[in-house]
Amino acid sequence: MTKLPWYKDGLRFKCTGCGGCCTGFPGYVFVSDEEIIKMAEHLKLSVKEFGRLYLRQDASGRLSLKELSKTYDCVFLRDKKRCSIYEVRPKQCRTFPFWPEALSSPEAWEETARYCEGINPQAPKVPLEVIKENLHA
Ligand code: SF4
Repeated sequence: MTKLPWYKDGLRFKCTGCGGCCTGFPGYVFVSDEEIIKMAEHLKLSVKEFGRLYLRQDASGRLSLKELSKTYDCVFLRDKKRCSIYEVRPKQCRTFPFWPEALSSPEAWEETARYCEGINPQAPKVPLEVIKENLHA
């Protein structure tokens, strides 16, 4: 029988739109070709121009959204709070905080809660099936 994960009873989370996950520490927001096309179309830019303005590569050549050098704000974060491309944000953003690292242990989840105010005891419970859908999206 498969062992159920530690979060088998669901986890409390509801995004407040605080923007905490879009800033504050260095990181990558990896994007697929499909996502790049969607975001470029949304901004009425060619894929080439979108890449020039908003993309960078990690050491292995994977494409990520740029971030600002001092604050680590995502290049699309506006007024410290609002995602300016919310409708077409990449999967990595859509599935936060249900990432493998954050779900790896209760301690890792608690650590994530330090910068994600949406993880709190008052938030509604997200059921296991929804967590899994995000995890494997
Ligand atoms: S840190 Fe959490 S609550 Fe704030 S915008 Fe990100 S997901 Fe939503």
